[in-house]
Amino acid sequence: MTSLFRAEIDAMTGYIPGEQPKSDSKIIKLNSNENPYPPSPKVKDVLQNFDWEWLRRYPDASATDFRKAVSEVLNVPTDWIIVGNGSDEVLNLVIRACTDVSRKVVYPMPTYVLYRTLVEMQPAQTIEIDYPQDYKLPIDELVKVDGAVTFIATPNSPSGHIVPVEDLRELASKLSGVLVIDEAYCDFAANDALSVVKEFENVISIRTLSKGYSLAGIRLGFGIANPKLLSGLYKIKDSYNIDAIACAIGTAAMRDQDYKNSCAEKVKISRERLSKDLEKLGFKIWDSQTNFLLTQPPQGNAEYLYLKLKEQGILIRYFKQEGLEDKLRIAVGTDEENKVLVEALSGLLK
Ligand SMILES: *Cc1c(COP(=O)(O)O)cnc(C)c1O
Repeated sequence: MTSLFRAEIDAMTGYIPGEQPKSDSKIIKLNSNENPYPPSPKVKDVLQNFDWEWLRRYPDASATDFRKAVSEVLNVPTDWIIVGNGSDEVLNLVIRACTDVSRKVVYPMPTYVLYRTLVEMQPAQTIEIDYPQDYKLPIDELVKVDGAVTFIATPNSPSGHIVPVEDLRELASKLSGVLVIDEAYCDFAANDALSVVKEFENVISIRTLSKGYSLAGIRLGFGIANPKLLSGLYKIKDSYNIDAIACAIGTAAMRDQDYKNSCAEKVKISRERLSKDLEKLGFKIWDSQTNFLLTQPPQGNAEYLYLKLKEQGILIRYFKQEGLEDKLRIAVGTDEENKVLVEALSGLLK
């Protein structure tokens, strides 16, 4: 019998998200790089005062209030912003708008696994290029492919490293297709790539409220690019992809930069502390500009540690993937959570 699905769908595995425990459980959750702190108190005010009459109507199709807030905070015009149901949706819009059988997608590995999943859904080809050991961006190899879409996550997951802006600028100038700079973790990094977006017509920066703003639950992300690049994405976007509540909450969170920055500062301090504590246990730690650490346990038993921690109610991320089998990705929690993690690991390594 022939399949109900397209050949690409039959062939693909599907993205496997980090486990999500029930909200009432006492699990320490360090597996999805969520922010350990609650969202801005302004978000709570908006939710409590939300006029439920608005729920009867369709939401604003272009999330105007939210785009205005982003525009003021980042100093870019509102027509340079497109809003998505999570930044994952914006990544998908780019793939759907720019690829077909003869138009390749390329990115350096290891990186965000969703890129592969999104391409697998399309009749498009993925070219994966290995990062060297030192995570220097393989510019020449990327340029040689000259994909219709090139993805660079910076800071990258799961490595945590940041790509220098000069490398992004060189890459953008040499590509004829779209360069997607996925900046999901830029709120925890020393700098961002907005200047590259302003300089080159083929570049889009993609941001999210899931990590820096502690709002993974409302699914809100956005892209920044010149209106010409955005025009193709606007054509295929679901009209009402952002619900009214997400738009109102996201606007309040975006306007409370002080709160977001103060949480990011706390995370950065805890990140350095956790890094030192794990190093004392013999872990190798990669420099991180994010809210997580890529680590290599001293006895090479990464999967064992992941499973044992899970038994103790601590979730971290283990990737059964070439080059990562001996490593663990650990999100930075509160200092109390990190302490429990380090004590548990110390016990398991004895
Ligand atoms: C978390 C993450 C995203 C997804 O963000 P959402 O806005 O929650 O969809 C995108 N890219 C990278 C690299 C991420 O780690």
